[in-house]
Parts: sequence; structure tokens; C-alpha cells
Amino acid sequence: MTLGPTIDGGRLLARLDAFAAIGGTPAGGVNRPALSVEDRAARALLARLGAARGFSVFQDAAANLFLRRSGADNDRPPFMIGSHLDSQPTGGRYDGALGTLAALEVLETLEDNGIVTASAVELVAWTNEEGSRFSPGAFGSQVHATGVFPDGWQDTVDGNGIRLADELAATLAALPEAIERPLGLPAAGYIELHIEQGPLLERQGALIGVVEGIQGTRWLEVVIEGQVAHAGTTPLADRRDAMAVAAAIIARLQATVMPSDSDARLTVGRLTLVPGAVNVIPGEVTFSIDLRHPNGGEIDRLEAEIGALAAETAASGGCRVSLRRSMDVAPAHFDDRLTGIIQSVAEKRGFPTRRMFSGAFHDALFMARLGPAAMIFVPCRNGLSHNEAEYVEPHQAIAGTQVLCDATLEAMQLGKHR
Ligand SMILES: [Zn+2]
Repeated sequence: MTLGPTIDGGRLLARLDAFAAIGGTPAGGVNRPALSVEDRAARALLARLGAARGFSVFQDAAANLFLRRSGADNDRPPFMIGSHLDSQPTGGRYDGALGTLAALEVLETLEDNGIVTASAVELVAWTNEEGSRFSPGAFGSQVHATGVFPDGWQDTVDGNGIRLADELAATLAALPEAIERPLGLPAAGYIELHIEQGPLLERQGALIGVVEGIQGTRWLEVVIEGQVAHAGTTPLADRRDAMAVAAAIIARLQATVMPSDSDARLTVGRLTLVPGAVNVIPGEVTFSIDLRHPNGGEIDRLEAEIGALAAETAASGGCRVSLRRSMDVAPAHFDDRLTGIIQSVAEKRGFPTRRMFSGAFHDALFMARLGPAAMIFVPCRNGLSHNEAEYVEPHQAIAGTQVLCDATLEAMQLGKHR
């Protein structure tokens, strides 16, 4: 294995600064909602930088943006690298932007060094990964992978009543120089660099996370039905208190699911009470469960366990319980060959590595359904992300980008120099 050319770390850092200024917040973060004016400005800058280096610029109907650097045989599917440019409302400057600008740095490094790759290499900036303005997230990669838009997407509006469909059309129109292309063109492979968004790499002194997959996520909605009654006059024995039962179920779940399996994640993030009055025993409580695990079979097993525990607890409190799935995303397992390449090139560079699963969603989840895909993680300070204080050390950003460059070339079995 030969390592690729050395990337230009200074250029990468300057690009990170330039893009962080688009939607930059006073606290040093980024507010660049999907399909917003700021998002369009970031896309336009990316397209301009790519065009200046002679890369072809494309967009598809989901406003996924592609920069293509030609190879020796352009009839073969390109190798794709990239991430996203949209951010959370109080987001950081690295989530998504690092992977996108690292991909640009790879393309430019190949160009600087006159390297002819066997097929084209394409940067992709996926539309609306975050999903905080318009749900669902990973919109662009999902549409790319499935070839269809999510049900009801045309009626989707943001918090101000602005339609996704209108913003998508305006975003596409804002980049007339981009060549239209069909959805879902095949790729030979896909690698995404991203910040870890968790504390594991930093805690273990690792520089490169070799990501083996993305854990599955299942959302459950639990409804407890009891009986509305007077808070002052109803003795304990006569109560069918939906809130007391919900609290008992949640306490039991917290005491069992995660303590008995360090890979399991269970979060109750939303709870509503009916009627929701101070002096009324709640007759109905609905709460959410966000359940995650790298192993899809374990998610099934945990759901069954949760259902049994909830039924038993509800019965003892005189209530009825029902569970409903509101979302289900199976775990993704990345390509062994690609993860092996990432590990090898990182070791050859002398970077400490750690194999890991991603706790968060990424566009690579959907790309893994189409073909070989993998991810590279770099640490972020204190594991902080979706936060204006999100921070990646310059040497960490540069190392991750170097590994992306080396791994991309190795995966493509690099052509010869001009
Ligand atoms: Zn991201």
C-alpha cells in the first residue's frame, strides 16, 4: 500500500473558516438551516471553488450538490466522498462542513498532484441532513438511495409555515450553473469523514475512528390509559393514575435496559399528560422511547421486553398500555474492505485508531444500502456537537482529511501520475 499525496492543511483550515462565516453566530457557532439563504450561499461558494479548479458541478432534484473530478474512465461509476453543509440552529462549524470541505481538499490535492484516478471522484454535499428545519433528516441521501421523496414531503413546512417544496425549488434555482442530473446515480463506493459527536475518541487518545456501522434506531410511542379523577378526594386504592404508572415504567426501564447492556441506548424525551391539570389525576399519559442498538435483533428483543414490562406495570396500577412504533431505522454495517483500508492507512500514517459504531445518524447510513460505504471519525472537544462550542483541533481535522485522501485513493486502486 502506498499512501497518497500530502493534503494542504492550511487550505483546509482556511476553508473551514470561510464556510463557518456563512451563517456564523456571535458565539462562534453556525446557524445554517437546510435550504435557507445561508445554505444557498454555502452551496454557491462550494460550487464556485469547485468550478475554479475545473470540476463539473451537478445537482439533482433533491438539491444534492456534486463536484466531479474526472478520471481515466468516466463511464465507470465515480467514487463518492462528502457530507452535508446544513447545520442545527445553534450548530457548530465542523458537523457536516468538515466532511464536505475535506472532500474538496481531497479533490484539490489530486488536482495539485496531477493524479489520474481510474474513475471520477465526486464530492457530494447532501441536502438537509440535520432535519431540524424540515423533517425527516438525511433527506437528500435518503432520496438519493431510494429514488423517491418521502411521503407527504410537499406539505412539509418549517416552524414559520414555509414549505419545503418552495425552499427546495428556490435552492435549485439559486445555482443555475449546476448541471441537472437524475436521482441516485450509482457510485463505486462512498466514504464520509465526520466529527464523532461523542467523547470516546478523545477519552481514549485516538485520532481516527474507524466506523464499522451506525446503530439502529426505533422510536416507540407508549400510551397509558387510566382514569381522570379528583386529586383531593380519590384514595390510593381507587386511583388508576396513568402518570404514576408511566413513572414506574420509566424507572424500571432506566434501571434495566442500559445497565445490563452497554451498547443499548434508551431515552424518554417527550411526555404528555391528559388533562394536564395540577389538581387532576391524569387519565392518559403518552411518552416517547428512543431505542438504539448496533444489533437489529437486540432492538427487537428490547422492544418485546419493554412491552412486557409496561404491560405488567400498567396492570398492577389498574391501567391499560399500548405501544406503537413511530420510526424504525435498521442498523447499517459498513463495508469490511473499506473499513480495513481506513484502518491500514491511518496506522501507516502513525495515527492512533479506534474501531467504533456511530451513535448518530449520518448520510452514510443510506449510502450503505446502495453499495460499499464507510465513515472516518475525528474527535471533537468534550464530545460536544450540535452546539456552538463544537471544536476540532486543527491537527485532528487535517489528520482525518489525510486519511480520507489516502483511503479514497487506495479504495480506487490509484491510477498513474500524469
Ligand atoms: Zn452531521
